[in-house]
Amino acid sequence: MSDLFLTLLHDGMKDKHQKHVTTSLTLIDVHDIARSCRTFEVKKFFIAHSSAAMRSFARTLKRHWTQGYGSSYNPDRKEAFSRTEIVPAFNEVLHLIELETGLRPITIATSALPGGTRISFSEARELRSTSQNPLLLMFGTGWGMAEELISQADYFLEPIQGCGDYNHLSVRSAAAIILDRLSSS
Ligand code: SAM
Repeated sequence: MSDLFLTLLHDGMKDKHQKHVTTSLTLIDVHDIARSCRTFEVKKFFIAHSSAAMRSFARTLKRHWTQGYGSSYNPDRKEAFSRTEIVPAFNEVLHLIELETGLRPITIATSALPGGTRISFSEARELRSTSQNPLLLMFGTGWGMAEELISQADYFLEPIQGCGDYNHLSVRSAAAIILDRLSSS
């Protein structure tokens, strides 16, 4: 099985009026996605944000859990955060994975919205079991990734469907479900 990486993106997002925006960092997403990533053996969780202030905020949180009081209060959280990296841009995520693995990652965008050419969960699992290259799952924030960002990805994963016509999962819930689906046979 190829290595799995995950990134939480904030630039190139849409707001509720479909305007292109940069979203704020949401601490609960960072906490919960870090824990899900550790649970499903994701090699690294990259938080990408163009704002130096937001990156500094994320680093303060990481420091608290990996070196500060949090590291002895909750060593499980320390372990989750030790695999978290904070970077200024999506391109930097690609570059760091290539440096670490020697291979370009295969990028897979996610969205709740229907449409576009999508791969199924089983095709993504197949890709994971046959590819040499690492896989990078891309998650959005706000009202999701702008089309320009989605079109940069190698693949676009089918959405998680709810049981009715309401489909508004948080990114942390969607990430946990998708990690489970890509990890189970
Ligand atoms: N309508 C937006 C969209 O385009 O997905 C919802 C944005 S949601 C608050 C933030 C992110 O969570 C999305 O960009 C996607 O990465 C992920 N997400 C949320 N619901 C999802 C679903 N049902 N299927 C796949 N990914 C989902």
